[in-house]
Amino acid sequence: MNMRSHQLRCIGTGERIAPEDAPHDFRDPETRELYEIEYPWSESAETSGTPHRNLPNPSALRHLWAERRDSTLPIDQSGVWRYRELLPILKDDNTATTLREGNTPLYDLPRCAKSLGLDFLLAKHQGMNPTGSFKDTGMTAALSVAVERGYEWVACASTGNTSAAMAAYAARAGLRSIVFIPEGKIAWGKLSQSMDYGAMTVQLKTDFDGCVRILAELVKRHPIYLLNSVNPYRLEGQKTPAVEMVEQLDWQVPHHVIVPGGNLANGSALGKGFAEMKHLGLIDRVPKISVIQAMGANPLFQWFTNDHKEIDPVVADTRATAIRIGNPASWRKAARIIETTNGWCEQVSESEIAFAKAQIGAEGIGCEPASAVTLAGLKKLVAQGRVESGERTVLLLTGHTLKDPEYTIDFHRGTLAMDIEEAAPFRRPPLVLDADPETVLRALDAEMKNTPVPVR
Ligand SMILES: *Cc1c(COP(=O)(O)O)cnc(C)c1O
Repeated sequence: MNMRSHQLRCIGTGERIAPEDAPHDFRDPETRELYEIEYPWSESAETSGTPHRNLPNPSALRHLWAERRDSTLPIDQSGVWRYRELLPILKDDNTATTLREGNTPLYDLPRCAKSLGLDFLLAKHQGMNPTGSFKDTGMTAALSVAVERGYEWVACASTGNTSAAMAAYAARAGLRSIVFIPEGKIAWGKLSQSMDYGAMTVQLKTDFDGCVRILAELVKRHPIYLLNSVNPYRLEGQKTPAVEMVEQLDWQVPHHVIVPGGNLANGSALGKGFAEMKHLGLIDRVPKISVIQAMGANPLFQWFTNDHKEIDPVVADTRATAIRIGNPASWRKAARIIETTNGWCEQVSESEIAFAKAQIGAEGIGCEPASAVTLAGLKKLVAQGRVESGERTVLLLTGHTLKDPEYTIDFHRGTLAMDIEEAAPFRRPPLVLDADPETVLRALDAEMKNTPVPVR
């Protein structure tokens, strides 16, 4: 077995198949369960009796990854492919399609920390990726596989960000792409991106879950490569922010990582990343990974609070459109991560999301509504005593604030349904004034009196 070889392992049956034999919809034909990528050095492969530990040692890997930061090679400049030893999925890594994704900042949020009674709080801002969401880290991986397999067309169903990422990477690689999005329930920033990058954009008169069903039919009948997060290569890219995060923390592992939950691939991917790093000796423990859902799209939360058996799909409704998903494909993977890391699952209301988003905005950072569920959920975990003041917590901010400007404007104009009084001081509706210095000065005076000086 050479170091490049990998297999697809069914998460239900444990059965392994060769990459070339992957079903078009990436589900086991009988059990309908998903697959995950397994390497010769994976823990699951070793316990099955074929251990191959001839990877560079942890300190050599750390050194190699740090050294690549000075390189001018595109794949070295990518915050995904810089860690390519952890995702040997391509025959030749130099064929990877990259927009220099990853390399996202880890910010501190001092005002949010203070308001929650925490010593500090960090945010890994995946919205700072090339198309403005964490989807880029997964797309560079899975789309590069599509190129290697010789596909000419790729497709996805999307609440918006997957389509923006896919369209961009497909365009870079010279592939055609087709996007299915739910009509009317998508943020403008995202819809405009998929058109800008030249995708064939189809708005279906259904919700995200309906789009998934149509797409499944399509890939059965045409040689189109499916790039939804059921594609396990997406998760290989999406696990790398876990590595980048601990590298940025000088290889200190945070106590908690908090992620939004939609289709539930992202939390699963980060969990895989942390577990693999621990297995390879890069870190000595894993963080607790908690998943936060919007109340109106909370099937995992219901699974968590009910009997922990099967998941019941819901009809999803939330203005955090990126997580407006009622039947999450990767729920079993996410459930396993929450359980094995001792994380938690919470739900938050629309008002709580809006308030949290305003607080993140007021840090000079901003994010899209779906990302703000992390801060809203953290408040609950702190109140429940699950997160303590001295512990290090990292919020995964998944998307850029410019993805959904309409939401932000509605919040500040007061046209978003809100019942949280503390949020009122965060509202900054635009003032319309006469172009007269006295009038403007009077407005400025009033503003100075009414607004407290922010914590530094
Ligand atoms: C896709 C997305 C999510 C949800 O991620 P899943 O992997 O589907 O759970 C959350 N926030 C943003 C901004 C997204 O684009």
